[in-house]
Amino acid sequence: MNSSHDPEILGLPFYEDGHRRLAHQIGVWCDIYGDLWETVRRTHPDEAGRRLVQLLGEEGWLSGLDPDKTPHDLPADLRAVCLAREALAYAEDLADFAYSIQSLSATPIARFGDKEQQARYLPRMAAGTLIGAFAVSEMEAGSNVAAVGLTARRTGDGGHVLTGRKAWIAHATIADLFVVIARTGEGPGPLGLSAFLVPADTPGIHVEPVDAIAPRSFGHVRFEDCPVPDDALLGRRGRGFVVAMDLLERFRMTVGAAAVGFARRAADTALSHTRGREAYGGTLFDLQLVKAQLADMDIRLNAASLLVARAAWEADRGSRGFARHSGIAKVYATEAAQEIVDAAVQLSGAAGVVRGGTAERLYRQIRSLRIYEGATDVLRLALADGLDMRRADRGG
Ligand SMILES: Cc1cc2nc3c(=O)[nH]c(=O)nc-3n(C[C@H](O)[C@H](O)[C@H](O)COP(=O)(O)OP(=O)(O)OC[C@H]3O[C@@H](n4cnc5c(N)ncnc54)[C@H](O)[C@@H]3O)c2cc1C
Repeated sequence: MNSSHDPEILGLPFYEDGHRRLAHQIGVWCDIYGDLWETVRRTHPDEAGRRLVQLLGEEGWLSGLDPDKTPHDLPADLRAVCLAREALAYAEDLADFAYSIQSLSATPIARFGDKEQQARYLPRMAAGTLIGAFAVSEMEAGSNVAAVGLTARRTGDGGHVLTGRKAWIAHATIADLFVVIARTGEGPGPLGLSAFLVPADTPGIHVEPVDAIAPRSFGHVRFEDCPVPDDALLGRRGRGFVVAMDLLERFRMTVGAAAVGFARRAADTALSHTRGREAYGGTLFDLQLVKAQLADMDIRLNAASLLVARAAWEADRGSRGFARHSGIAKVYATEAAQEIVDAAVQLSGAAGVVRGGTAERLYRQIRSLRIYEGATDVLRLALADGLDMRRADRGG
């Protein structure tokens, strides 16, 4: 049995046998590729990203992105994405990043693209031969997606010209295709946005790499009068905000799943360190305060795993309220993971802050999960705003 998932949680009725098979297979696969994870950490993040997307595609782990291709005979729903992210994050941040950004950018095409757009891009995205990026954020429009300012001006032939900048885009430096949310002006704020499929070799695209706390392909993108044809429009005009929100609501719980993977790795690291570290005639593990911290880690891990499982189950069964559970799972799991990883660093002592060690690596890798795809504070605000309506639903 691999160590990336909790078998007791996998045994709960939230999951079906196909999910348990998938969790087992991807966990074993991650163990087999242990040497590769060491190698990619020493490789330039762009090269690592390309290699990992290609490998994930070749080995079939992205097959769920192409509705016509299911070689593993495994589920391709949100529970599957969550379980895959949990295993990959446990093994290596860059592997999870490659998987998640490829999934993030293919999903709007699968959900809003027409048959022709799906056939043009999804088979290659599933094969790992075409790398995608999802570009909504801008310097002046991060948490507030409705403020997107990059414009798409209509041309006489039905196409558009894109002008403006996107910021903080994952896989920006290696993407072949950008899914871009742009202002087309059908209405104010969120009502005036549309989504576009923009190949990275379109004239006028310039990418500026950004060095993040945990190395990865990441950057800002400038669109300088970029011409795109009429068939670049993804979904209906004026529905770009819906495309973005639909995606973020689905993927927030998967960020929670990745957080569980990082946190489980940290908890395992802390347990083995405290078991092995001699202190005061015994080991660190013998100290009651240390035991209390390890117990708290386990409690938080259980709660986070259950919230992620519940959110994914709600989404997969088509529950109308799944977005709330997705937000709850993301907030709890990412905040808990930050505390678990911090405790793992503390329990490792000086060894915990040495560059390249497991605890130090996790400490840098976990931080941005509390910011992207809905910062904790923004999601808390949205949850609070929904409380009155929920109380009314309960008849209170
Ligand atoms: C590693 C990483 C990868 C990313 N990848 C992508 C990507 O692939 N595509 C993409 O489009 N974007 C991406 N982003 C950008 C990300 O979505 C934004 O950083 C995020 O939405 C926050 O926007 P901001 O950075 O402008 O912060 P701001 O919106 O300025 O917010 C800063 C902080 O202010 C607080 N805050 C903001 N609004 C509220 C509110 N309403 N109530 C209470 N507090 C609030 C929060 O604490 C928040 O963290 C990525 C970011 C990171 C760090």
